Amino acid sequence: MKYRYEEFTWPEIREAVNGNRVAVLPVGTVEQHGPHLPLITDVLTASEMSRLAVERDPARAVLMPPVFYSFNEHHMDFPGTIAVNGETIIRYVTDIGRSLSRHGFRKILIVNGHGSNVPFLDIAARNITNETPAVSAMISWWKLIPKKLLEELRESERPGGMAHGCELETSVLLHLRPDLVQMDKAQKDINFQTPTEFFYWDLEGPSPVMFQEWFSRYSKTGTVGDPTKATAEKGAKFVAAVVERMCALIDEFRAREIRPRVDHH
Ligand SMILES: [Zn+2]
Repeated sequence: MKYRYEEFTWPEIREAVNGNRVAVLPVGTVEQHGPHLPLITDVLTASEMSRLAVERDPARAVLMPPVFYSFNEHHMDFPGTIAVNGETIIRYVTDIGRSLSRHGFRKILIVNGHGSNVPFLDIAARNITNETPAVSAMISWWKLIPKKLLEELRESERPGGMAHGCELETSVLLHLRPDLVQMDKAQKDINFQTPTEFFYWDLEGPSPVMFQEWFSRYSKTGTVGDPTKATAEKGAKFVAAVVERMCALIDEFRAREIRPRVDHH
């Protein structure tokens, strides 16, 4: 059964809408990930995990072509990064959702692969919900990792070991695309001095403070974290767990009732 949106014909899209399939939209970014990971890391993680989840039961979802470019101005001191203005991203992703809604899709799930996409994709998902009859939700893939699995597998220090080009991302890439990982160049880089009470970066337990400095101010290598602790075995377990929970999320989102609005004026 087909699931890649761009391979459908228009009558097939109409059928997918009639089948109440969820549109799954991966959003990454093209940016430096240290000396050992490729620029496409965040596109790869979001789109591969989405693909694996949709592929498991294509009758419930369609996989959209990923959004490659996004917001990452703070990485521009490193060669390779392509930075798009935040307002552009919000409108761009909103317009993808608006188009899907006009064709009849009513559930649009955005799967995020890039930490700095969070505020923009949150707003894009809200826009889609507010501006169309569809509803849209956004999930960053690392939020789907069960806490127990992180406790079991994580070796890098907390906080800081899992932030960017880190133990987590490198493990996942070693599983998904080992040909693109140069482990001999992976270096631990957690050099924002001792993490203070409020200023640190970690995907597992983010600081309560919203704050993003120029990356080159606190990373020498373009990495923040400890990629030397990464293995393909860990990556396989992380990916399997994320895909499992993404399948459950798609099912729940698909079954979720869209209730009528009530105008109380
Ligand atoms: Zn990344």
